[in-house]
Amino acid sequence: MKTMKRFAALLLVVVLMAAMLVVPANAAGGTITINNPVSGISYNLYKIFDLTTNGAGGYIYKVTSAWKDFIVSYGGFTVADDNTVTFVETNFDDAAEKAAFAKAVQDRASKAPVIAADQTIVGAGSSIEFTVDDGYYVVGSSLKVEAMSFTVPDNTGNGNVSKASKVTLPTLDKYVGVTTPDQSTISSSVGATYKYKISLKVADIATQDYVLVDTPAAGISGPQNASQISIQVGGVDVNSSNYTLTFDATDKDKFTLTFNKDYITSLNVATEIVITYSAALNNGAAAENKNAVILNWDSVEGKKTAETTVKTYKFDVTKVTKVDGSTNPLAGAKFSLYTDSSCTNVINLTENGTTYTVCFDELCPHTSDHVTEITTTATGKFVINGLGNGTYYLKETAAPDGYNLPVNPVTTVTINNADGASFEITNTAGNMFPETGGIGTTLFYTIGGIMVLAAVVFIVTRRRMIEE
Ligand SMILES: [Zn+2]
Repeated sequence: MKTMKRFAALLLVVVLMAAMLVVPANAAGGTITINNPVSGISYNLYKIFDLTTNGAGGYIYKVTSAWKDFIVSYGGFTVADDNTVTFVETNFDDAAEKAAFAKAVQDRASKAPVIAADQTIVGAGSSIEFTVDDGYYVVGSSLKVEAMSFTVPDNTGNGNVSKASKVTLPTLDKYVGVTTPDQSTISSSVGATYKYKISLKVADIATQDYVLVDTPAAGISGPQNASQISIQVGGVDVNSSNYTLTFDATDKDKFTLTFNKDYITSLNVATEIVITYSAALNNGAAAENKNAVILNWDSVEGKKTAETTVKTYKFDVTKVTKVDGSTNPLAGAKFSLYTDSSCTNVINLTENGTTYTVCFDELCPHTSDHVTEITTTATGKFVINGLGNGTYYLKETAAPDGYNLPVNPVTTVTINNADGASFEITNTAGNMFPETGGIGTTLFYTIGGIMVLAAVVFIVTRRRMIEE
């Protein structure tokens, strides 16, 4: 035990001597860690004061040359000729005053003449770390909304210090659906209405107005006036004094919705603003029709996008006749497309050569040029596009002169997240009785034949009976 105590005492002396040798030489330094950083934005580190100890446990702050003018003008500091700073402690004794100082540093850094950051790290992952020497630092970001101050080492002598960023960014999502807009991709037939929903959750900051720009593809007919767009928070319409809504002069389906900065900052963090409207594909629709919305919410960092897709599908038909083993295209056959198997609800079409685009009538921009009948040309081929998922019925309403309708003139077309089949529909030549009437005719002759036979038997039998 005695040996142990003696050794411990000796060790203490050695440690103290070592400490005296190191102090006040500047420093061990350390690290400044920002936890939960906002991904992708720049974090800027500014060194405001150099920090040394005076050998007696006291600290000496000296303002860095870059920040001297600012510190002199900020108030609360006295700066000596050797840049040593003393400060009125009551001006910095609570969190609000320290935060205000850090914010003032950040604001000053970006104003002319700009004061360059000593280090910059782009936010990524769960934390970022600056390696620093002893000093007093402010870390701001390119968002310019949150500034944090650090002393290295802190007042417990720890050189590795950290704080968590509390900034939340706005979120932007867009959905689409036939009745409930909750998908990113759907299919829809041209002219059939469906719905869009934009979900915007506000951040705890707003450095400017929030500007939403909604841009539908050319194949999408969207709202063209304010009455066609619902803007709500918690199911209640947002008062129109809180935003402006404008429609593009040339692309009339494109709109810009600007929420006032004051309105955004009045909302609780993560409050959801819901924007809904109906739309339909027009006959400019492509296989994929995208609708993107962009939110500009900060002049430096703030741009978010969300996108939905509405798809259409097609199927194609070749009308042929088969002669001596060869297949020949057939002109002059007539077809119509229906939504029901009994072929009573005909679907309107717009015609472009041998390509026909369906047009459901709920939101149709071109009623004047509809057709309901397709007549095959010399190639026998045609395409019907603009279809959403569903089952459709293509009926051959008339065969070309000299040809017979098929036994079953209705072809069932199924669209299920892919283009439909390529159908080859055959007519046979000749002047036979229509096959659909064939059974009846044959039956008639058969019954007729039996009756004639029965009559003969009856007559013969009767004669025999008379003769007997
Ligand atoms: Zn139409």
